[in-house]
Amino acid sequence: MKKHNFYAGPSILPEYTIKNTAEAVMNFAGTGLSVMEISHRSKEFVAVMDEAISLVNELLDLPAGYKVIFVGGGASTQFCMAPFNLLKTKAAYLNTGAWASKAQKEAKLFGEVVEVASSKDKNYTYIPKNFEVPADADYLHITSNNTIYGTEIKTDLDLGVRLVADMSSDIFSRPIDVSKYDIIYAGAQKNLAPSGVTIAIVNENALGQVERAIPTMLDYRTHIEKESMFNTPPVLPVFAALQTLQWLKAQGGVAEMQKKNIEKASLLYDEIDSNKFFKATVEAEEDRSLMNICFVMNDEYTELEKDFMELATSKGCVGIKGHRSVGGFRASTYNALPKESVEVLVAAMKEFAAKH
Ligand code: PLP
Repeated sequence: MKKHNFYAGPSILPEYTIKNTAEAVMNFAGTGLSVMEISHRSKEFVAVMDEAISLVNELLDLPAGYKVIFVGGGASTQFCMAPFNLLKTKAAYLNTGAWASKAQKEAKLFGEVVEVASSKDKNYTYIPKNFEVPADADYLHITSNNTIYGTEIKTDLDLGVRLVADMSSDIFSRPIDVSKYDIIYAGAQKNLAPSGVTIAIVNENALGQVERAIPTMLDYRTHIEKESMFNTPPVLPVFAALQTLQWLKAQGGVAEMQKKNIEKASLLYDEIDSNKFFKATVEAEEDRSLMNICFVMNDEYTELEKDFMELATSKGCVGIKGHRSVGGFRASTYNALPKESVEVLVAAMKEFAAKH
């Protein structure tokens, strides 16, 4: 049976990415060798890295002065790398979830951290508004998409302060005004590639202003200067990332992705809102994530949760169990998820309602 992959991450990748990566594992670029067993300094692999960096520039329309790097360590290493490189005295953090809190915790190692607002009071089911950012903050850190709770900041905030953003679960899902950010980082394992590689987009002008010593591997300048080849990069995930970037371009780029993502998410949110058995955990439409759609059984039907899970599973839906801190269901609708998969889930919800 065809599977409909709603996992939150690692998660669905385009068939194009999977197929080309599988081929390159067997025979990379006609070399007769696997992409896993060839030097990262070979001309074939250098071409992969160069094209990947150039496609990120193109797809996100990077302004002059911004550099793209591919590094290891996951988004979790970026939680410390960003403040290590940027925090002079004070940084502002918006607390929209567990990942945002973890980022904030790391920043405290490097200076004063002001939590400008938090949605912890309601288990992170909304994005705080109308908060003030200290004028002397070096930057405001945001988590643009909160994978666990299904909230998303879908615009590029204009608060008179430089932004640093964890876009692990919504990068490449919409156009971004990169000029507002000093650093954008993302673990690749949701919208781009298998886990193991992290992408960072760095405003070079923001670097070199802190006085502390930065270990070589944690200094963005190292990776920029060496074009992500200071040490051995995660070659297989980088190769896969390139395939996804090529696929994105062929699909019409991030503006086209945004259209499709809105379409898919609307389909599911509409069903959740109109089906009496279910309710969305995030009420405000403007806060609802287009990437991770969280819903639970309505109060009087909580004992039917297992039944719906069984029905959805029987239709081929996988990975829809909600995160343990939210419960219920979470359907992740990343770029590579076809609309057809959302239609299957929606049909299962309708069938469930008709049955009960
Ligand atoms: N930030 C967000 C928004 C995430 O969803 C995740 C992982 O799910 C992380 C950070 C952590 O990423 P990594 O596992 O690459 O360190």
